[in-house]
Amino acid sequence: MKLARFAAAAVAMALAAGTGACDSSEKTADKGGSGAKAGVLVGVSMPTKSSERWISDGNNVKAALEKLGYQVHLQYAENDIPTQVNQIETQITKDAKLLIVASIDGTAISTQLQQAADKKIPVIAYDRLIRNSPNVDYYATFDNYKVGVQQATSLLVGLGLKKEDGSDGAAQGPFNIELFAGSPDDNNATFFFNGAMDTLKPYIDKGALVVKSGQKDFKTVAILRWDPATAQKRMEDLLTTTYTGGAKVDGVLSPYDGLSIGILSALKSNGYGAGGQKYPIVTGQDAEKASVKSIIAGEQFATIFKDTRQLAEVTVKMADAVLKAGKPEVNNTKDYDNGKKVVPSYLLEPVIVYKSNYKKVLIDSGYYKEDELK
Ligand code: BGC
Repeated sequence: MKLARFAAAAVAMALAAGTGACDSSEKTADKGGSGAKAGVLVGVSMPTKSSERWISDGNNVKAALEKLGYQVHLQYAENDIPTQVNQIETQITKDAKLLIVASIDGTAISTQLQQAADKKIPVIAYDRLIRNSPNVDYYATFDNYKVGVQQATSLLVGLGLKKEDGSDGAAQGPFNIELFAGSPDDNNATFFFNGAMDTLKPYIDKGALVVKSGQKDFKTVAILRWDPATAQKRMEDLLTTTYTGGAKVDGVLSPYDGLSIGILSALKSNGYGAGGQKYPIVTGQDAEKASVKSIIAGEQFATIFKDTRQLAEVTVKMADAVLKAGKPEVNNTKDYDNGKKVVPSYLLEPVIVYKSNYKKVLIDSGYYKEDELK
C-alpha cells in the first residue's frame, strides 16, 4: 500500500543519511529544496544515542529536512528528562519554527510545549506519543499495537504453536514463558504489551503457555527507560526464583532488541545456549545489528523491523506541509488519544524478521549491507 510509495524515496534518503553527520550541532543547509524559506530552523529532539535506531532516526530526519532547505538543530538527551527539557527550551529560544520530538517521558514536557504553543510553534510527536498536552499537532509512528501482535506472533512461531504463514503449528505445549514490557513512561510500551497480550491470552487461557513466575501485569514486567541491564537483572532474578529444580524457560516476550541482548546474557550465564541446552525463543524490536547477527547465529529468534527511513520521510513531509501552512497526510484519527486530544497520526507498517527472511527484508531493501551483519 503506502509502503511502496515511500520505498524509492526512502532508499534515496538512506543514501543521503549515510553520509550525514550525527552530532548535535547546528548546520545551515540551503540547497533550494522544495522552496522552504532558507534558514528556517527545525528543532529535532531524540531520546538517546545508546540505541542504534535513534541514531538512524536523527540522521534520516536531519538529512531529509536539509534536502528541503531547512536548517536543523538535532539534539540527543541520553535518556535524561531534564536534558531533553533544556534542549527543547533551547530550540524554542533559537527561534525554531517547528519541533519534532521523540520524547523520553511522554508527560514531562508539557511546560515546554506550552511555551512553543505561545509562540505558535507547531509540534510533531515522533514515534512516541507526547501525552497530556493539547499542544501536539501531529504524530508519525508505526502501528504500535501491531508491533505487539507481531512480537507475540513471532514467539508463537518460535515455539511451534503457529507457522510463519499464520496457520496453526503442530506443537501443543505447555511452554513456560516470561514477559517483559518497555518503559512505563513511553506510551508505545503499553501499545506493544496490549497487542502482545491480546495475542498470547488465548494460549495462556488454554494452558499452552504458562507464565511460570506469575508476573503478568504491565507494571511488574515493565523495564524503566528500556534499560538492558535492568532487563538482564530481572531475567537473572526470574531464573533464580522460578526456574529451579530442572524447570526451563521456553520463551521470552521481549519488546526491544537491547532488552533481548540483556535477557540472552542472563540466560547464557545460567547455562542456556551450551551443552545441548537451547536458548528459549526470545523476541525483539528494531532489527538492530547486534540482534540481527544474533538471529543469524540462532540465538535471538526474531525481531520487528520498523524502517526508520520511512518514518523520517513521513515526518519530514508532515513538517514541510505544516510549515507551508498546508495539511499533512494522516491515516489515523482515532487511536492516539494523548489524554487531552486525539492526535492526528500517520501509522507505518512494521514487519517481523526471522532468520528465514532477514535477507529479503533488511538487505534487499538496502537497510543494511550484508557485510554489516557479519
Ligand atoms: C520505540 C521502539 C524502541 C523503544 C526503545 C520505543 O518507543 O518505538 O522502536 O525499541 O522505544 O528505544
